Formats: sequence, structure tokens, C-alpha cells
Amino acid sequence: MLGTLCRYLRFMGYDTESASGYREGNTREDTLLLKRAQGEGRVLLTMDRELARRGGEGAILLEDRDVMEQLRVLTRTGLIVPALRLNRCSLCNTLLRAAREDEVSRARHAPRSTPGMEFFWCPRCRKLYWQGSHGKDLEKRIKENILKD
Ligand SMILES: [Zn+2]
Repeated sequence: MLGTLCRYLRFMGYDTESASGYREGNTREDTLLLKRAQGEGRVLLTMDRELARRGGEGAILLEDRDVMEQLRVLTRTGLIVPALRLNRCSLCNTLLRAAREDEVSRARHAPRSTPGMEFFWCPRCRKLYWQGSHGKDLEKRIKENILKD
């Protein structure tokens, strides 16, 4: 349910695990999820009121479906400082490293390297990241939507 938020938080550098493998509204699965969050020292983000209630202080209830509004709530609670860091894979949560030249040249869809352009590599997904239009766009949305208030 919070897939977009999960990707955005990873773009911001936060160690974020997705609970998409768990079934919603299933009490036993909720218990496992809460145990896992607690065991790994994670804050549980959920749109499920009952799950948030059971999570107590270790959970945050998100009521708005809009991802920018969700980020605003997390900023207000002090859980995050919204800024684009691009140091974590948005797909698998692995920390990125600087990409080697051959990784950049072999990647499809990669823009031509220009001075000052930085490339990063996820060793797990073998996916190339760069500070391009997507990152810039997200950074602009963060500035306009979250940091304004
Ligand atoms: Zn990855």
C-alpha cells in the first residue's frame, strides 16, 4: 500500500523495508510484522488503523494516500529530514556505490556522462543510478511540497 513512499524514502537514504509480503488485515501476520519491526529497530509505517494502534509508539499511522502528504507527516514527527541522497537502491534497499566506467558505458538508457554528473551502482540489482531528471524532479517536489511549511 505504501510502495511509492518506500521508494521515496530509499531515494532519501533511509533504510526502508517493504511489508508487501504480508497480508493486510490478518492478525497473525500483523503480529509477525510488529515483531519483525521491533526486532530490527524499525518504525512501522501503516495506513491500517488497527495495526498502528497495536504498534503503539513504534508505529506511525498514515491517513492520506498522497505520498507528499505522507512525507510531510514523517517530517513533522521528526522521523525524516527530506532531502534527496541517492545512496540507496529504490528497488532493493541496498547501499549504492560509485559506478565504474564500464558499468556506465554498458548500461542501457544511461545519459552520456557530462562533467559533474555522478553515477551510482546497485551491486545487487545491477542497476545504474544517476543524478538526472528523475532525481531533480523529486528534489523539486520535496522542496515545493514539504519544505515550504
Ligand atoms: Zn538494488
